[in-house]
Amino acid sequence: MPAAIETRSLELGYRNEAETVSVLGGVDLTVAAGEFLSIIGPSGCGKSTLLRVVADLLDPLSGDIRVLGKSPSAARREREVGFVFQDPTLLPWRTVAANIELPRDIGGRHAAAAAPKGKSAELSRMLGIDELTGRFPHQLSGGQRQRVAIARALLTEPKLLLMDEPFGALDEITRDRLNDELLRLWRRTGTTILFITHSIMEAVYLGQRVMVLGSRPGRVRAMKDLRDAKTPDNRCRREDPAIVSAMTEMRSMLEAA
Ligand code: ADP
Repeated sequence: MPAAIETRSLELGYRNEAETVSVLGGVDLTVAAGEFLSIIGPSGCGKSTLLRVVADLLDPLSGDIRVLGKSPSAARREREVGFVFQDPTLLPWRTVAANIELPRDIGGRHAAAAAPKGKSAELSRMLGIDELTGRFPHQLSGGQRQRVAIARALLTEPKLLLMDEPFGALDEITRDRLNDELLRLWRRTGTTILFITHSIMEAVYLGQRVMVLGSRPGRVRAMKDLRDAKTPDNRCRREDPAIVSAMTEMRSMLEAA
């Protein structure tokens, strides 16, 4: 099985008419198939830019990147990559069920083939929104809307799920609950997840590894492996001494970044 993501000397940034701005450089990253990787770093260090390149929404400035063993554009075309952003961007005129089904309706041949029948109902059950499928987005709480966005992203059973601060706007209790639901989904589906967050707790609780990015210059500052501090299926308690000490260590890495 190819790695979910493999990059060599990757440099990311933006080309405008006037100039080329480098944001993040020297990224040599291998994410194994099925891994849960958290990404943390100060605002503006290039976390979202990295996700954009993986998602084929932006070309790298230089270097190599393979997504699921192919080019980012091939992975995107074959509907193998799903996204969830901080803003769930649901269509207000569609019901919950119709929002979850959106990729099937707009995604063309690959999406229709990749979204098995009954998938939407199964995902709604898994995410605890099966009683809400007839509602419209304005009739949902923030946490419920984000659950719909996650179900929609998983409809085509992507091998790779990119999440950019998906729970950043939620209260702490809802966020903790969604963290546990996400881990359950991850265990059941085997999907590789890249998860951007500003929360050290969330990064450490969710990730098997945590990638710490720094800015000026934008670089990978550390890769913290948490697998020894957790069970083989990535379970831990937030108050475990190894988890608490990983959080303390991560805080000083971030202060230095
Ligand atoms: P993060 O997600 O870590 O907060 P981003 O990846 O969104 O950071 O942005 C990294 C840097 O790239 C920031 O300095 C931002 O201003 C810059 N940037 C983002 N989008 C563009 C763009 N379209 N053109 C030029 N610079 C951009």
